[in-house]
Amino acid sequence: MNVSDSERMVNLLIQDGWEPTDSPETANLIIFNTCSVRQHAADRAISNFGALKKLKDKKFIFAGCVAKEKEDEMFKRFPHLDALVGPEAIGDIVSVAKRIFSGEKVLATGFLSYPEFSSSFTAYRLPLTAAVSRFVTIMRGCNNFCSYCIVPHVRGREIYRPKKNIIDEIKYLVASGAKEVTLLGQNVNSYPCFPQLLEDLNKISGLLRIRFMTSHPKDLSDTLIFAMRDMEKVMEHLHLPLQSGSDRILKAMNRHYTRKDYLSLIEKAKKEVPCISFTTDLIIGYPGETDKDFRDTLKTVKEVRFDGAFSFKYSPRPFTKALEATGAVPEEIKTERLDILNRLTKKTAEENKKQKIGKVLEVLSEKKDSGRSRENFQVFFNPETGPGELLKVKITSASAWSLKGKIISG
Ligand code: SAH
Ligand code: SF4
Repeated sequence: MNVSDSERMVNLLIQDGWEPTDSPETANLIIFNTCSVRQHAADRAISNFGALKKLKDKKFIFAGCVAKEKEDEMFKRFPHLDALVGPEAIGDIVSVAKRIFSGEKVLATGFLSYPEFSSSFTAYRLPLTAAVSRFVTIMRGCNNFCSYCIVPHVRGREIYRPKKNIIDEIKYLVASGAKEVTLLGQNVNSYPCFPQLLEDLNKISGLLRIRFMTSHPKDLSDTLIFAMRDMEKVMEHLHLPLQSGSDRILKAMNRHYTRKDYLSLIEKAKKEVPCISFTTDLIIGYPGETDKDFRDTLKTVKEVRFDGAFSFKYSPRPFTKALEATGAVPEEIKTERLDILNRLTKKTAEENKKQKIGKVLEVLSEKKDSGRSRENFQVFFNPETGPGELLKVKITSASAWSLKGKIISG
């Protein structure tokens, strides 16, 4: 989402006549976009931003979730800072840039009604994303208030982008070379009538693939599972954060599902969409997490057999309910549990990928020698080809995070 927000900011500036440069030294405006989901990300953003003060004669904008989180202290700490732009004010980036060049210090951290969300298309692409596969934000904010999470506090409540505007942007991206889009939202499946949106996007000619993330288990409907089963362009991959496999911890986290609910969703999805792949997010060491709770997480992870997982140690965040929770888990126990969990997910991911050896997968090439399968596995192939080709690749070897194979047609 931050990559997408950065692209939107640069895009708005380009429309206003600005030009991107290759290095901070040659820039006259530097925008630092930041994530505050874990303390470590926020600390790194702040220390990297502090180090920029040695660059002279430049204007500095500190943007994103850390700008909102630290709105009361950033100007005091950093004399070189010219503007703070919260994640929900990125649509105002052009007017903020203009004001700072006329000498103002600007605080733009409110939850504004960002008109850019429905009026400009993101033509600009950061080099770290593939030209054939673009991000499209369909909603902003979050209404869920998971007890550990800062997101609703820095991004505000859910706002949905009008459907027509999403369709128009995707048509525009397809006309400029995209073949795949990933619909983004903190909780995409709470977008009103989300399966209907997929059905409308499925009709866009020239668009080959549709992905979406993140889905919340409590809002995963049967209709959405059927959409993945029935619509050719909707890819068979679900990123479905589990967070914990312990009912006690899930309740404390305010996640609104049990281990059993989660497993029955997985079972249903596997039954309807046999080749579906699952990835997840997990938090280790939430306050009060016992060995038994942790074993429940391991047990659940074993049962689901995820193809990948983003697992992190619990990080206490400002404004969140979990700050009041007792029973902090010692750091060394968190480290030990995370290590055990990472080894398990790697083993499962590798076993799942090995199942693909000898099979033929449909791969959309992103670079000359790699692309992604419908399941979202990274596939390296030969011989080399151009980006944007839909290939049939026979898989010859597999590791935990990628596959290798030979193109048999394309
Ligand atoms: N809206 C998405 C993503 C939220 S942030 C969702 O609900 O899944 C991405 C991930 O960061 C979360 O899924 C969670 O696993 C992790 N995360 C959020 N807050 C955290 C915290 N305080 N400590 C550790 N991990 C956290
Ligand atoms: Fe955070 Fe929960 Fe919202 Fe995801 S659903 S952004 S974890 S509050």
